[in-house]
Amino acid sequence: MACDFARLGEQVIESAEAGAKVIHIDVMDGRFVPNISIGIPVVAALKPIAEQHDLILDVHLMIVEPERYLADFASAGADVLTVHAEASPHLHRTIQAIHDLDVAAGVALNPATPLSALEEVLPMLQLALIMSVNPGFGGQSYITSASSKISRLAKMIKDCGSQAVIQVDGGIKSHNVAEVAAAGASLLVSGSGVFTSATPVATKMNELNQALALGPSRLV
Ligand code: ZN
Repeated sequence: MACDFARLGEQVIESAEAGAKVIHIDVMDGRFVPNISIGIPVVAALKPIAEQHDLILDVHLMIVEPERYLADFASAGADVLTVHAEASPHLHRTIQAIHDLDVAAGVALNPATPLSALEEVLPMLQLALIMSVNPGFGGQSYITSASSKISRLAKMIKDCGSQAVIQVDGGIKSHNVAEVAAAGASLLVSGSGVFTSATPVATKMNELNQALALGPSRLV
């Protein structure tokens, strides 16, 4: 979402060369969230680049009725499909449908949605996504209460024996990346923290990695 869309392929390659393992693709429909972003053809266009550079294509569906489009995104090359709990009333069935497509399944929670929305499906998931901004636009600030939510989710995952990885999305930059990781997240999405017009992607990625290596104590 934060890329220069006119140079999308180049920026994905720059990210891979700077050490990114996963490309997070924000799909917005103008209904579940106010904004409209990109869709199935863009995922398909990125797939060959992802394969060449050993990148996982992680597709975050901020759309109503996500179950209608799962097969299309899987065919386009998504390795992970994440749906919102708020957009999917039959979440158990939706996760099964993702697995039937041989794709890893994630469920996302908006900031106001309690963790209990995940409780019954957590053992089925490969990924649980905590939104640390209200979804819809890039460049927002991290909502600090997300850190407690991540810690509580980490405990829930441990208690139920789930293999789910905790992903966090929204406002992650070098000043808070270590705090988010220390809370229990292992997949950190950064958009405007990596892609800026002024600074090369590799420089921003290095800043994030250095902040991670220093740990949260640097904040004090
Ligand atoms: Zn996202």
